[in-house]
Amino acid sequence: MSLFDLPPLPEVPVLGETEGYPVRRIFCVGRNYADHAREMGHEPDLEAPFYFTKSPLAICHSGATIPYAPGTADLHHEMELVVALGAPAFRATREEAEAAIYAYACGLDMTRRDRQQDGKDKRRPWDLGKDFEDSAVIAPLTKASEVAPLGPQRLTLAVNGTLRQDATLDLLLHDVPAVIQHLSGYYHLAPGDLIYTGTPAGVGAVVEGDVLRGEIEGLTPLDLTIGPAE
Ligand code: MN
Repeated sequence: MSLFDLPPLPEVPVLGETEGYPVRRIFCVGRNYADHAREMGHEPDLEAPFYFTKSPLAICHSGATIPYAPGTADLHHEMELVVALGAPAFRATREEAEAAIYAYACGLDMTRRDRQQDGKDKRRPWDLGKDFEDSAVIAPLTKASEVAPLGPQRLTLAVNGTLRQDATLDLLLHDVPAVIQHLSGYYHLAPGDLIYTGTPAGVGAVVEGDVLRGEIEGLTPLDLTIGPAE
């Protein structure tokens, strides 16, 4: 018994399944494409990936109209490949990391860029910049067994029909198994864990009324509309 009931964890639809994928944790990789690292003023770090996290309560489903986020005047899109784990991984080998991959999806790591910059300037955490309601947008998952080996697939994001981000997945500095393997040195990864794998160059601001469309070849596209601020 609890003092009060909480709503269930958010679930992401899976193509070909009637039941959803419950979200336990959300990990996000920072600066995982060289051209995005450079546009943010950093040289790419090939040594090891780094991370920030979002609460499962940040999940927002593709097709939604979200309010322009409170507490920012510079809400940005970051189009990303999302990986969903389907098996435990702890101190995994590369092979074990690959075997833990369950599915992929198109995702948007929505970012309060001004609040993230505050954090950088003041050497404070990024939470206000990254972990907020509707900041982890996700389209339905496609099982990895139904996706061609990752590499040549094109990832794009268009705002009101104008292309803003355009890259291929082989440009990831740390590929998906490498990220899982590295992250598994710090966490007991498990089914329900999502990893947003980072964004390529071309991030930018959105405003009320914008219609976003994110695509990765072989996956279900993502749609998002920016509504008025609350
Ligand atoms: Mn990101």
